[in-house]
Amino acid sequence: MTDKHVYLFSEGNSSMSSLLGRKGANLAEMYTLGLPVPFGFTVCTEACRTFYKDGKKINSFIEKQIDDALITLEEQTGKEFGHAKNPLLVSVRSGSPISMPGMMDTILNLGLNDITVEGLAQKTGNPRFAFDSYRRFIQMFSDIVLQIDHYQFESELEQMKAKAGVSKDSDLSAMHLYELVRAYKKIVKKEIKDEFPQDPKVQLMLATGAVFESWNNQRAVLYRRINRIEMDHGTAVNIQAMVFGNMGDDSGTGVAFTRNPNTGDNELFGEFLMNAQGEDVVAGIRTPQPLCELKRLMPDTYHQFKLLARNLETHYRAVQDIEFTIEQGNLFLLQTRTAKVTPEASIKIAVDMAQEEFITQDEALMRVDPHSLHSMLHETLDSTVEVEVLAVGLPASPGAAAGIIVFDSEEAERLQRTGHEVILLRRETSPDDIHGMVASVGILTSQGGMTSHAAVVARDMSKPCIVGCETMQINESRQEVTFGETILKAGDTITLDGSTGRVILGRAPLVAPTFSQEFTTMLYWAKRRKQMEVLGSVNTPKEAIQAKSLGAEGIGLCRTEFMFMDPVRVPIVQEMILSQNKWERKKALDKLLPMQKSDFLEMFRIMDGKDVIIRLLDPPLHEFLPSAETLSIEIERAKVNKNFDEVQEKEKLLRRVKALHELNPSFGHRGCRLGITYPEIYEMQVTAIAEAALELKHEGIRIHPNIIVPLVSHANEMKLVREQVEETLKHVFEVYKDEIQIPIGAFIELPRACITANQIARYADFMTFGCNDLTQTTYGFSRDDAEGKYLAYYIDHKILPDNPFTVIDQEGVGGLIRFGTENGRKNKPQLRVGVTGVPSSEKKSVRFFHGIGLDYLSCVPHLVPIAIVSAAQAAILAEETKAVKKDQVKSTV
Ligand code: PEP
Ligand code: MG
Repeated sequence: MTDKHVYLFSEGNSSMSSLLGRKGANLAEMYTLGLPVPFGFTVCTEACRTFYKDGKKINSFIEKQIDDALITLEEQTGKEFGHAKNPLLVSVRSGSPISMPGMMDTILNLGLNDITVEGLAQKTGNPRFAFDSYRRFIQMFSDIVLQIDHYQFESELEQMKAKAGVSKDSDLSAMHLYELVRAYKKIVKKEIKDEFPQDPKVQLMLATGAVFESWNNQRAVLYRRINRIEMDHGTAVNIQAMVFGNMGDDSGTGVAFTRNPNTGDNELFGEFLMNAQGEDVVAGIRTPQPLCELKRLMPDTYHQFKLLARNLETHYRAVQDIEFTIEQGNLFLLQTRTAKVTPEASIKIAVDMAQEEFITQDEALMRVDPHSLHSMLHETLDSTVEVEVLAVGLPASPGAAAGIIVFDSEEAERLQRTGHEVILLRRETSPDDIHGMVASVGILTSQGGMTSHAAVVARDMSKPCIVGCETMQINESRQEVTFGETILKAGDTITLDGSTGRVILGRAPLVAPTFSQEFTTMLYWAKRRKQMEVLGSVNTPKEAIQAKSLGAEGIGLCRTEFMFMDPVRVPIVQEMILSQNKWERKKALDKLLPMQKSDFLEMFRIMDGKDVIIRLLDPPLHEFLPSAETLSIEIERAKVNKNFDEVQEKEKLLRRVKALHELNPSFGHRGCRLGITYPEIYEMQVTAIAEAALELKHEGIRIHPNIIVPLVSHANEMKLVREQVEETLKHVFEVYKDEIQIPIGAFIELPRACITANQIARYADFMTFGCNDLTQTTYGFSRDDAEGKYLAYYIDHKILPDNPFTVIDQEGVGGLIRFGTENGRKNKPQLRVGVTGVPSSEKKSVRFFHGIGLDYLSCVPHLVPIAIVSAAQAAILAEETKAVKKDQVKSTV
């Protein structure tokens, strides 16, 4: 901790974001680079933490430092805080170390009161501007500091516009605005039973405290929880001399990105509003104009801005999101930060920058957030199908989604909880809608531009979003929305195409995504860079095709039980289960054999010489039978219909269901226990695998089959099943007079198997850890119950840092995997070891698996690209860490 809590912009730089917040650090950096940044200073995050420690009070020590910085600001600007003729006005803005757009509060024009507003009017010769600034200040201050609902001010403004006969705020005259200020002050007096604070110093301290408090407002807390941002860091407060975009038609304000945040195209992209102030652009109150209009209206300013934007991108080596203000033709930069862009854009930008030799390929790979690829692997609209377009708005966030209409965020949340997919329709969203946006599959607003709150937040959440859909009329009280002639009600279905801005009636068909050139390039780089193999976990040949097309280098887990669940096969499987003896069972299995064989023939053909690891039957047999409840109902129905044959057949089935009933099926008669007690099941499966492999070998097709034994707990189980498998293989090889190498591995999902991996490895050619079951058996959590009942509480209350079914628990479950791997390789140093289950594509877990020396990851097909990028990042990071360590050793020698 330092005693210094307030930093002038000249005292900071971009590396100080933990202390000064991102915004403060970047303002300081821009200031020192000599860019046109209004003078100012930052009250640091440490001060925020002290504020909370002191019971939400700014202590006199910090207040004195703010006073001193204000004196410097007065000297720099040549204005004086509270001066009747030459007043200094400031903005007070939040700024945390990790940017949380729109989540905390900002107050502009602070320093205005009944006297300084007159001074400002006189000095600028523009009373309209002065009173416009004052009414904005009263509203913002009242909302944020005095906690008066902004709706009251909005409604007063609407009445004033109606009275004046104008539709835009900017058409109100000085007189109207003067009256509006009086009306606003009356609202304040009614609400707080006191006058609006007139002393600028008092205003400043209250505003600073309120911004500190906004760190813990509901939406900021929720945003941090969703984005896993540290809760206790606090925000800095930036106090900066005001520059005015609302000084007339040679003034304005805007937001720009140095590259297109939707597509990643290398073009300046943004929006602005003439004669407007700061928040107007992002708040979506007026629909702004595209930046190319600025080029037409003020070509010199536009070119100056373009140059500055390019310089900032080069300086930060990343796409920048820049806020600017033009005050009577003079350009000022108010903020720059690394832009939040769509996942598609982030890949294009990273690949382009590497190809422009602006960054390295490794840096490009590290800039891709593997998690963000989820949305790109989402569906899009099927362009071959005709659809009824209700309206077209601005395409703010790509991808397509269909759902039922809701008009408020609470309802969206309620319906989502009851299993509905909802689309949130609003005039515009505000930060208070964040929970509704989280609950929705898509967002549609009638107002606002490409940088409005809805657009920025939806892009960040990777959800399809359309904004500024001006032909849409929402009537909340009637729970209706009108698109021209068409009236829809809450609960009706629409589809959003966030890539084109089209709003479509009904549920339009969606198709699997296609990938850009840059995506393919990035995946190619990642594949070359990673060390672990990435395989697909698939259940059907169709999924094998999908996994291969997404980059899988083989099949790491083929669950054969899914092949048994085909409706044609279920009766035969049931026949097998109901068999009274081994011979009856064999007869049923003989019918299944050609079916299993055809699956494997298809699977091996698709994978064309790549590894295919086939897991022998794992689940308990009752999973292939109807439930006892269903059977009882059917028996009763058959009795009523006097269908006695059916009654007899179903009663037999019911007896078997009851006999197979287990109190805890997860720990039940499953996995290799099943194969040991019913050896003919595995015999059929192994025969199907070996016959399929040999037949393809004869056709000259390359094949690489592997067999894995599920749920091994003891080396003796592995030994026994291995002997059985080898026996069957020997038999098939004799019949076919040919042989093929089929490695036999152990599927490790039980703590005992991890602890005794060296013994199991004596009989295993390779090992795969199954994180799903291993997490259940290590914690003693039943996954469905845990996720449905208490896990959320555990995570919210920091009892567990993450959901262990999603992110590997490195110390517990991960500890067992690490031990099992080392132990298994003790006598077989070359033992091939991999992992499957949900964490196998999650980036933190993948880093861990890389670190403990695993050979492969296996995940569901659509996560294969995520696993590939995560594995590449793990390899890059491991190398970087090694290099740092080497340097440290060198410097200590
Ligand atoms: C596992 O338990 O991690 C696993 C992959 O097996 P399954 O999900 O099929 O039970
Ligand atoms: Mg399992």
